[in-house]
Amino acid sequence: MTLKLSDILAAKRALLGRVARTPLVPAPNLSRKLGTDLHLKMETMQPTGAFKLRGATNAAAHVPAGTHTLTCCSTGNHGRGVAYAARALGRKAVVCMSRLVPQTKIDGIKALGADIRIVGASQDDALAECQRVAKEPGVEEISPFDDPHVIAGQGTAGLEILEDLPEVRTLLVPLSGGGLAAGVAVAAKAINPRVKVIGITMDRGAAMKASIDAGHPVEVEEVPSLADSLGGGIGLHNKLSFPICRDLLDDIVLVTEDEIYRAMQALFFEERHVAEGACVVGIAALMSGRIKKPDGPVATIITGRSVDMDQFMQVMTGQDIPLGDITLKGSSYAA
Ligand SMILES: *Cc1c(COP(=O)(O)O)cnc(C)c1O
Repeated sequence: MTLKLSDILAAKRALLGRVARTPLVPAPNLSRKLGTDLHLKMETMQPTGAFKLRGATNAAAHVPAGTHTLTCCSTGNHGRGVAYAARALGRKAVVCMSRLVPQTKIDGIKALGADIRIVGASQDDALAECQRVAKEPGVEEISPFDDPHVIAGQGTAGLEILEDLPEVRTLLVPLSGGGLAAGVAVAAKAINPRVKVIGITMDRGAAMKASIDAGHPVEVEEVPSLADSLGGGIGLHNKLSFPICRDLLDDIVLVTEDEIYRAMQALFFEERHVAEGACVVGIAALMSGRIKKPDGPVATIITGRSVDMDQFMQVMTGQDIPLGDITLKGSSYAA
């Protein structure tokens, strides 16, 4: 099966009034610094703080009648989306996460009344628990990225960018399991095949990149990152997000933790936006020169705001950041 623009247009109708149609805002200061016309799609303004609400809400609208509980594994933001969508439909939610998930994300999910299971130290462990839960009758699993309704839902973010800025030439999409990048690429390429869609992720544990290089889904080691929402594999039995990303993405670019750190500072000090490390990988790729200065307008998706505020303050004040085995050397932002 494959996904078409019509699926994304259907998702747009299903999401109407249930998720925010977020603004695409210019980033004048970053644009000046980078010498490029940069626009930001503010998914931080979703009620759950991240775009994942789009896919979760669209998938929740398509579960079989008689479903009383939705379950998922998550690095945090998908769980919050599923918990929100379940509550809106009067259903229960069971969210399975690993120990790597920051407390602030767990608190956000708890506040929506979901049942939380913390298991193991990786997304694979969380997925195993979720699949166990999903065996019970009346329980439906919603994949964070490998589900046609989830991908179509995420694709509406891309559709909206093309509606708001038809002249956009390059889309920089934070990439993990590839649900967002796949949906955005399907929408963008259908509307204007000349739009470049580039997936960006951190260089430590880049599962989609390793899988595309290998020609099939592979496992990578999951390590702590400033971009914690980009952690986890793509699933060894990936059916949809892998082939779509392989076929439609123009490139995948990797950025370092150090570059993510500077980009978080730049987004805050230049544009005054609070966002997670995962959101700024596109900005990091531009700042570091890992992407050649694009011709024409560029948009990147500021995917979520569920950042640990202690860590955020440490980055803004130039502190060192411990990340598992490594310590990221801090420094103050130099405007
Ligand atoms: C999930 C997530 C991503 C990556 O989305 P995928 O569909 O897994 O590629 C990027 N940013 C944030 C904040 C996320 O929560």
